[in-house]
Amino acid sequence: MTRGSSRIAGAILAGGGRSRTGLDKIMLTYEQALNIVLANSARMPVIQTALTEATGRVLAEDIVSDVNMPPFDKSAMDGYAVRAQDVEKVPANLRVIDVIRAGYPSDKSVSAGECSKIMTGAPIPSGADAVVMVEDTEPLGDNRVRIRCGVSKGSNICPLGEEVLKDDVVVREATVLRPFEIALAAAAGRTTLHVYAAPQVAILATGDEIIEPGRMPRPGQIRNSNSPALVSRLRRIGIGADDLGIAPDESRALREHLQAGLTRNVLIITGGVSVGDYDLVPKLLADLGVTLLFEQIAVKPGRPTVLGKRDNTLVFGLPGNPVSTLLIAELLVVPALRRMMGEKDPLPPMQEAVLDEPVSHKPNRTSFRPVTVLWSGCTPHARPVKYHGSADLAGASRGDGFAAIPQGIAELPAGSTVRVLLFY
Ligand code: AMP
Ligand code: MG
Repeated sequence: MTRGSSRIAGAILAGGGRSRTGLDKIMLTYEQALNIVLANSARMPVIQTALTEATGRVLAEDIVSDVNMPPFDKSAMDGYAVRAQDVEKVPANLRVIDVIRAGYPSDKSVSAGECSKIMTGAPIPSGADAVVMVEDTEPLGDNRVRIRCGVSKGSNICPLGEEVLKDDVVVREATVLRPFEIALAAAAGRTTLHVYAAPQVAILATGDEIIEPGRMPRPGQIRNSNSPALVSRLRRIGIGADDLGIAPDESRALREHLQAGLTRNVLIITGGVSVGDYDLVPKLLADLGVTLLFEQIAVKPGRPTVLGKRDNTLVFGLPGNPVSTLLIAELLVVPALRRMMGEKDPLPPMQEAVLDEPVSHKPNRTSFRPVTVLWSGCTPHARPVKYHGSADLAGASRGDGFAAIPQGIAELPAGSTVRVLLFY
C-alpha cells in the first residue's frame, strides 16, 4: 500500500508538508480525523461476563426482570403497621399483636385497634395499610403502643411492583453499565451479562533515548512516561493493555516490535511518527501492509498523529511528547476504543467554562491549552496554567483539563466561553 492520505474524500489541505514518500500529507481537521477513526473502529464481538466484571462495558442484550420490585408490599420504615383509620385521631393507643422481622411474613392479620411492630424491609401484614415510624410512637408496656402522629393510607409502604414489574426490561441493550445498572441486573436475577468485548490493545514506546522508568537516565536519555500514562488511561475504561516496552529507532528491531503489536486489535505507538531522520514508524508500518489513513491532524499539540489499519488491527502513531500523547489519546484513541466496545456516543465530553484570561494561538490548528477549572458560584472558570509546551508534563498536570481554542480563531478574549476537555 502506498503512504499518504490523498484517498480521503473531502479532506482539506491545510498547509501540511511533504511526506518522505513524496506524497502530499493532508492535514485533517480534528472532526475529520475523528470521523475516520470512528468509521474504522469496528465493534467487538459479544461475550458473556460475570456481573461485577461488567462495569463500564456496553450491554449487548436487554435485561428482563424475573420478579416484581418490590416483590411484596414492603415497609419503608422501622415502626408499626397500622390501619390508617385507627390513627385518624391521635394520640391513639393500639394493641401490638406481632413483631415482624424482614424476611419473615406474618400470618396475623391486623384488626381494628391493633397494630404489628414492623422492621424496614418486612412484608406488610394483611389488614394494615400504613406504617407509622417508630420515632412517632411511644411504647406503653403490656403490648400496647401510643401512636402520636397520624398517617394516611399507603404511608411508608413500598407497594408490590412499584419500581419494576416482572418481565419488564430493566436495562436496555447499548447501555453503558454503571454500578446502578449492575445492581439492577443483580436484583433482576442475573449473575452474568452479555457485553461487547474489550479490544486487545498493545502499547509500544519508541526512541533510542527512551529508558524504563526504573532506571537512572544517562546523558541524553529520558524515561518512558508515555507507556505508563496510556496503560493507566486505558485502565480507566476497563482495558488492560499489554505494554510491549521500548523499541529503538532502528528498522529491524522496530519492525519486530511493530509486528508483535499488529497481532492485537489496537496498537498504540508513541514517538517516531514525525519528520525527523529517525522517525521510522510510518514507513515501517506501510512496509508491513498497514494502510495509513492519515498522518497529520490540525491539532496542537499532536500534529504528526498517524492512523493506520491492517485487517482487524487499528494502529495509532502518537507524537512522542507526553502531553501530545495524552491529548491525542483522549481525542482519538479513547473514542475509538469506546466505539469498539459498543458505545453509540463515544465522543470526549467537554465542559464549558468562562475564560478568565485571553488566549491566542496560530489559527491553522485547534489548540488545546492546559487550564484549571474553578467554580465561582455556579459558573466554571478556566484559567491557563504556566505551561512550556507539549513536553511539559509538570506544567500540564497543574491543570484540570485542556481548553480548546478552535481552528480559524486567532484569539479568545477573557470572558468568552471555552470548551474544556477535562483530564482523567
Ligand atoms: P518523537 O515523537 O519521537 O520525535 O519524540 C518527541 C519528543 O518526545 C522527544 O523529546 C522524545 O524524547 C519524547 N518522547 C518520545 N517518547 C517518549 C516517551 N515514551 N516518554 C517520554 N518522552 C518521550
Ligand atoms: Mg523519537
